[in-house]
Formats: sequence, structure tokens, C-alpha cells
Amino acid sequence: MKWIDPHIHMVSRTTDDYERMAVAGCAAVTEPAFWAGFDRAHASHFRDYFLQIAECEQKRAALFGIRHFCWLCLNPKEAEDPELGRQVVELIPELLSLPSVLGIGEIGLNKNSKNEVRVLERHIALAADHDQLILVHTPHLEDKLKGTRLIMDALKNEPRIRPGRVIIDHAEEHTVGLILDQGFWAGLTLYPNSKCTPQRAVDIFEMYGPERIWINSAADWGNSDPLAVPRTLGEMKRRGHPEAVIQKLGFENPAAFLGQSGKFTI
Ligand SMILES: [Zn+2]
Repeated sequence: MKWIDPHIHMVSRTTDDYERMAVAGCAAVTEPAFWAGFDRAHASHFRDYFLQIAECEQKRAALFGIRHFCWLCLNPKEAEDPELGRQVVELIPELLSLPSVLGIGEIGLNKNSKNEVRVLERHIALAADHDQLILVHTPHLEDKLKGTRLIMDALKNEPRIRPGRVIIDHAEEHTVGLILDQGFWAGLTLYPNSKCTPQRAVDIFEMYGPERIWINSAADWGNSDPLAVPRTLGEMKRRGHPEAVIQKLGFENPAAFLGQSGKFTI
């Protein structure tokens, strides 16, 4: 079975993970810029990180026949400092033409603070200025519903943003309907302990149908599973979903969304 993991942080995974993913059928991954586990003090650190995910990680993935693409931004967890946000956003335009860069992400909110909203708006304007796809991170647990609404309001406030070119990730039962109703794509993140289990993700898929939904592992340096996508596709098979529907969720949907970038090819 061929599949795509459209949200995974491979810089924090081992080469053995690439090997296991390739054996399990992974054709491509996309890597949003995220928090490194510590707050970076200077904008220059982000430039090095952006080049790591835009130019180095492709070579590691290619050893196993996996295509690797990325997204650039200052992630919401480090967006409490508006001046750092301004400096990091200024680094991004010159890197957008790199062949591996698909858009701006993962932007969004973490604690739903005013400073985070300012940095989010800056990124949305950047994406609009350069006609980029957007990948959105939504907050955890009790902050998720409010944060998802604030993010969608900010996106709707920028008339140049087309909802069909925005994926709102880490969606759950109480946010998927809102996201799809407004024309955005919804991402279901598969975590062993929080976010969605494979079973919950398939339940949601069965409730909302196959359009404008993707699944991802969002695996990083924490407790997460780089094989979460094929495990979920296996759960669909166990429940008797036809092969064509399983391929749509695991491969065709992410390929269709990412293909809007003009750069994503398998
Ligand atoms: Zn992430």
C-alpha cells in the first residue's frame, strides 16, 4: 500500500524510521517547521533550520526512495515575541522558490495569546503575498475549539486566502465539521496518547466522508509513531472499507492538496 505522511518532523527521527517507513510503503513526507524542544534566541538559528528541512533532509529521505518536502514559518510555540516573529518572517521570502518548499506552516496558535495572533496574521499576509499554500497547527485540548475559531477568523479576514488552499491540522471530533463547512481542508493527527487514535480517526472519516480530509502522524521527538498512517489505513481495511477509499485517504487526498503547490510530485 502506497501512502503519504503530510505532517511529520523527520529532523527529530532516526534513519531507521525512514527505513521502516519505506518498507511500509511511504512514498513521500512533508515536514512543517516546528518547535525544536527549546526556544531559539536568534532569527539566524531559524535560517539554518529552514535550510536543514529544505535542502538536507531530502537527501536522507532519498536514500530510502522517499520524497521529502517542507513548509516554512515561525511555529506558534515560539511566537510570543513579536520582534522575533518579524525577523523570522523576513527570512522566508527568499527561500520560497526552493523546489522542496510547499508553503507556509505550521502556523496557528498555541495558547491563543494576542502576540501569537499578531505573528499568525503576519504569516497569513506572507502566504497571500506569495500565493502559498498554508498548513495550520491548532492548539491542544481545551484551547482547541477557541483557537480553531480564532485562526479561521484570521484566515477569513485576508480576502486573498482561498480556503481550499489551507489545511487545518490536528482537527478532532468537535472541530472537523466547522473546518470543512468553511471550505478548508481538515487534518487528523494520529498520536498514541493524545490527539486521534487510528480508531477515532476512522470514526471521524466515517462521519464526514472522504472529501478534503487527510491523516498524518505529526511524529516528532516526543511520544509519537511514524507508522501511524499505515496503521490507520489498516484499521480501515479491517472495517471493510474498499481499497479505493483507503487509497483516497492515505494517498490521493494529500497528493491532491499538496499538488496545488505546483511543486509536489511523486
Ligand atoms: Zn507538527
